[in-house]
Amino acid sequence: MRKRLALVTAEPSAADLAAIEAEWPLIAAELDVLDAEITLLYAEDHGGPTVLDWRRLRRAESRVTRAAAEVTARQSAHVCEPHTLREVRLTTECDYGCKVMACRDCGAEQVTHWSAYGCPAGKPVHRIA
Ligand SMILES: [Zn+2]
Ligand SMILES: [Zn+2]
Repeated sequence: MRKRLALVTAEPSAADLAAIEAEWPLIAAELDVLDAEITLLYAEDHGGPTVLDWRRLRRAESRVTRAAAEVTARQSAHVCEPHTLREVRLTTECDYGCKVMACRDCGAEQVTHWSAYGCPAGKPVHRIA
């Protein structure tokens, strides 16, 4: 749950903008397909689509496939939030009882060393993967 601030503005947040920007290649590719389809429909009333028209549609469709794969790949490279991490076991990286945490959203594991346990590695989080 994201906390809502009392102050609401019409401006999209940085997160909203980032989401739109991340999906933009896919949106643009889908618009190209639409455009190519409209060209085909129009051409049917005017002597039939040409080989070039079909080729343009197929190129646009394969761009959608590529863009979708890229967007998915980028979204899965997400940053794990502290509240999505849960303890799975003790780490073997140090002898201070520091913990391996796993993200419930992406499954990535990371070690959290705590100075509270007397670990000199302190609080910074290192990734295993
Ligand atoms: Zn994660
Ligand atoms: Zn440690």
